Amino acid sequence: MRTLHTLILPFALTLICLIFSCTDSGENNGLPQFIQVGEPSRSYDNVDQRLWIYFERFEAAAAARNINADLEDFGVTGSIETNPGHNAPGACSENTNNTLHHVSLRQDFWVDASVTEREIIVFHELGHCFLGRGHVNLALPDGTCASLMRSGGNVCIDNYFVQTRDFYLDELFGT
Ligand SMILES: [Zn+2]
Repeated sequence: MRTLHTLILPFALTLICLIFSCTDSGENNGLPQFIQVGEPSRSYDNVDQRLWIYFERFEAAAAARNINADLEDFGVTGSIETNPGHNAPGACSENTNNTLHHVSLRQDFWVDASVTEREIIVFHELGHCFLGRGHVNLALPDGTCASLMRSGGNVCIDNYFVQTRDFYLDELFGT
């Protein structure tokens, strides 16, 4: 009978899940949910195709906060390069007459980065290049970062997940 139980139990759980529409999203288990990969619905001139989804998400996050963030209209460009001319994982290059707003990411960082890490760094660089923000190296009482605008190093613990995303985007856009 033991063999029969081991066969029946998973089947029974599957059946219960079918009835109650179980998902594996983990929404109720308290674990952090990672930012998911996505497909862009539009293109951006002079921006590496791999960055489009994050540019689009940035604009959507701004719009959700009643901020108009038309990155293409503003002239933001973006690249992922083997030799971007800096040692940081990402950088925002601007000029004094406000005609250059270029986000450049290091190829070796990008290929190893998770979707969450990619969203953090693109939003961080757009924080510089579009929002004109500087670094905010503050930690919350639990040691986690107070802002996506933290600089590199170990100033705080990254805590950017689906559940905390709105908190960080509110801070990023100043809302
Ligand atoms: Zn920075």
